[in-house]
Amino acid sequence: MYRNGRQVPIEGVSIVAEDGRIADLTRELPEGETIVVPGGVAFPGFINLHNHTINAPLFRGIVDDLPRKAIGESKVYSMLMPMGALALSYLDPDELEALVALGLLEFARSGATTLVDQFRPRQTAILDLARRWGLRLYAAPYLFSPAGAVGDAAVARAAQGSFEGETGLAAFEELFAHFDEGERGRIRVILGPHAADSCAPDLLKTVDQIARERRLLTTIHLAQSQGEVDRVRVERGLDPAGYMESVGLLREGVIFAHGVHLTDDELARVRDSGAAIAHCASVFLRGGKSPNFARFAKHGVRFGIGTDAERMDMFSQLRASGFASKQATGAGDAGTAAGLFHAATIAGADALRRPDLGRIERGATADIVIVDANKPHLQPINDPIRTLAWYASSADIDTVLVDGRPIVRAGRLVGVNEQNLVKRGAAATRRVWQEAQRRGHFPIEAAPARE
Ligand SMILES: [Zn+2]
Repeated sequence: MYRNGRQVPIEGVSIVAEDGRIADLTRELPEGETIVVPGGVAFPGFINLHNHTINAPLFRGIVDDLPRKAIGESKVYSMLMPMGALALSYLDPDELEALVALGLLEFARSGATTLVDQFRPRQTAILDLARRWGLRLYAAPYLFSPAGAVGDAAVARAAQGSFEGETGLAAFEELFAHFDEGERGRIRVILGPHAADSCAPDLLKTVDQIARERRLLTTIHLAQSQGEVDRVRVERGLDPAGYMESVGLLREGVIFAHGVHLTDDELARVRDSGAAIAHCASVFLRGGKSPNFARFAKHGVRFGIGTDAERMDMFSQLRASGFASKQATGAGDAGTAAGLFHAATIAGADALRRPDLGRIERGATADIVIVDANKPHLQPINDPIRTLAWYASSADIDTVLVDGRPIVRAGRLVGVNEQNLVKRGAAATRRVWQEAQRRGHFPIEAAPARE
């Protein structure tokens, strides 16, 4: 449970949920509808602070093991963005929904109960499905500056296919009017300018203004690659943190995805500003880079954990973060389970201005995950937080509650034909791959290695 700003394990306690809130923690078996998971370990659902849901199925087995020469300086602009755009323009609405559903199905039992997702605004299926399935979603439809306002041709090209020269603000307004459920709602529509090198100052200043007026969160990729840092310096004459400051976005209420190329001086400025970083280790590890979560902790920066769609299993993301930190610092006590758990729950919730999430305590929102710990790889349990962070996986999840409502029971999404969804989602994904290959959108090294 949550005590004095920390997660503290306790044993033999029942959690009583009423009207979506944790009403009580008791040693007696409460009355009413009861969920009992013998040997279960309950924890506050993780906050996945940065993700692109369709990318998980779309790039599975495609972006792994790629040599640098195959993708150029930035995989984001040479491959991920063009493939994402293709999925949207090429699939029919049913196929697109199937692709999104496959991703969201993975999310639903990833250990997280809150998802922050950046996506192209035509992909409204993510909002429809999250609403239908009762998931907690912070939806950040992309905003881009039109090509003329961005110096780099590859960056400008990547944005195309989204809005044909528009910024996406009109689409944001439409989604906001249609889906946003207000401060404590399950579905929020927030501001999602794509990145420091694909968004010009006038757009970012508008974003800042809207965000302040409506008290909305903003999330943007920042210092994700050296190429981006170089482009920002050339085009704006500033380092990435300085560029954010110049447009009003170096402040509380802003979540920077990655920040791996921020200098020590920039990290100090981010810390002082109250902005948060969404740390996503495994996408960098996959490309042979070395993200170091201990570095953010050392500088006192607020940060949470995101999966960035490498996969959505939060346990495996915690492990990737922890191991990367231990490796980078040469110290076994860097990137501890307690530190990772704090980042993925309390810190992530605070970055979303939701101190009622990420905690099991009276009055908190009942977003709870229960792992079935009666498994050989989880026993015996010495320290439950270490057990979850280092040894559990999404396959160990028995139950997921969001707002006190069971979303997953016995490891299955309630009320959904999973088999059918998986089949349809995989078929839609394959259609995109085939078309991408035909158009030469992905390098030969990424082509399926079977006859
Ligand atoms: Zn991202």
